[in-house]
Amino acid sequence: MNKVVVIGAGIAGLSAGIYALKSGFEVTICEACGSPGGNCTGWRRGGYFFEGSMHWLNGSAPDSPINRVWRETGALSDTSRIINHDPFLTSDCGGRQAYLYRDVDRLEQHLCGLSPEDIPLVKGMCADIRRFAAVDIPLTDIFGLKVRKKAPSLLKTGTRILPVALRMGALGKISAGEYAGRFRSQAIRLLILNMVNPGYDAVSLFFTISRFLSKDGGYVEGGTVNMVRNMVKRFTDSGGVIRYNARVKRVIVDRGRAGGVVLAEGTIPADAVIVTADTLAANAVSGGLFSPPLRMPWLEKMYKNPQLIMNTFFCLGVEADLAGLPPYIVFPLEKPFKFHGRELNYLACRNYAGYSGYAPEGCSALTVSISSDSYGYWKLARERGYYEQGKRELFGTVLERLEAQFPAIRNRTAVRDIATPLTYEKYCGTYRGSWMTKTPPGNHRRFPYPCKPGGVKNLYFAGQRIQPPGGLPVAVTTGRRAAQYLCRDFGMVFGSDIY
Ligand SMILES: Cc1cc2nc3c(=O)[nH]c(=O)nc-3n(C[C@H](O)[C@H](O)[C@H](O)COP(=O)(O)OP(=O)(O)OC[C@H]3O[C@@H](n4cnc5c(N)ncnc54)[C@H](O)[C@@H]3O)c2cc1C
Repeated sequence: MNKVVVIGAGIAGLSAGIYALKSGFEVTICEACGSPGGNCTGWRRGGYFFEGSMHWLNGSAPDSPINRVWRETGALSDTSRIINHDPFLTSDCGGRQAYLYRDVDRLEQHLCGLSPEDIPLVKGMCADIRRFAAVDIPLTDIFGLKVRKKAPSLLKTGTRILPVALRMGALGKISAGEYAGRFRSQAIRLLILNMVNPGYDAVSLFFTISRFLSKDGGYVEGGTVNMVRNMVKRFTDSGGVIRYNARVKRVIVDRGRAGGVVLAEGTIPADAVIVTADTLAANAVSGGLFSPPLRMPWLEKMYKNPQLIMNTFFCLGVEADLAGLPPYIVFPLEKPFKFHGRELNYLACRNYAGYSGYAPEGCSALTVSISSDSYGYWKLARERGYYEQGKRELFGTVLERLEAQFPAIRNRTAVRDIATPLTYEKYCGTYRGSWMTKTPPGNHRRFPYPCKPGGVKNLYFAGQRIQPPGGLPVAVTTGRRAAQYLCRDFGMVFGSDIY
């Protein structure tokens, strides 16, 4: 039996491993950490559970193409309960609230009523949402693959893509932030600004919003940790082996062919290697997996314009029942504040009070994420010895703003935790702690980087970095795609239909 080593037990690694196993390979996953999931994680502190990744899942709707992949990999099953909060997001500007409803007609009516001076813009936005909602991200098979169960034909998507393609030209030229700025209503602007990073192009904004409006983009009960646990079970039940605390130091490349991996405790020979660690980190000059680093035009492009998304993440365990507050709320700050030179004038907060098991009885778990490129700031803070103090001070600033907005939490914060890009770098091995890729206006390549790089045989790449903007669906589908290349190269039938 052909042996495959997969580097990383995140979503991409588990997906690649499961599909490779189902296709008849012997698979070992090497994971640097003591637990699986990578960025797809959550953690417990003092009786509270904090969801650290999935806030919405593309493919949660049973009729979406990616749903099939989540089911084949075991992440979702008939018993998975999907929570589709409606409204998905609330913006609160001094008591004036705007809601992102999941029904486009209701959304249109609500926003037109809220801001009559924005009616033409609201109507245009909702028309675009309807166009984009009709198109799903297709699931495809690579050319020349022998497969047990084919991916659905692209023809169905084909006719619906035309109106979207016509709009993509215009929307691709402006950022989501610029698009939001066109609205007079602050409440509407804040809704839009919180759907995607404001630096993304407006195409990404519409692809994202339209997922919620097509009954997709739900939260899976039990969160990311549950999904990962299910995938690990599918992998190990099928005969796969995961080695934890097994950091790969180097991929063995001999005469243009990948032949295994080197760990601190020895080597694992293999017929093929699938790298699902962040591609940018995996091929870095210092601390990377290749000696010398791979030199390929697509990798050079990736390094030249990495467009990193990263965040500083705040977790609060609050001794108050906040079930009466919306699950996801954004609000402007009366007292804006500066963080690494950037002025922040609004905050968004996720409230898990409605979820069972996330907090002790009568208490609530809250999280806040500030998305900005703060890696350099935190790195310097660590080097100069004020990292811990910097975290405490920033936490205090954020808490003060939250307490001003939600008086019920005042002096009730029992648990405080903060993750910076250095935390993500340490625990997930990602490049500068980044876990997604921005797709800004203009230049942007939405097309995937290759899962199979030219130049080295039997070596494959998968993971969030392989297809901007990344995220869970990209991780799971690129894992699948890497396994398809593997099958084609080894003359195996791709096993996708067994679950
Ligand atoms: C706060 C936050 C919110 C998010 N929200 C969403 C969301 O709502 N929806 C969504 O779709 N996505 C979301 N994401 C993004 C999503 O979680 C990631 O894009 C996805 O989990 C990436 O999976 P991956 O398998 O590609 O990579 P990773 O999760 O980075 O997995 C790579 C694995 O490789 C391991 N590894 C690295 N180097 C080595 C080595 N040398 N040897 C062995 N193992 C190694 C790492 O430890 C890790 O386990 C969010 C992420 C964060 C952090």
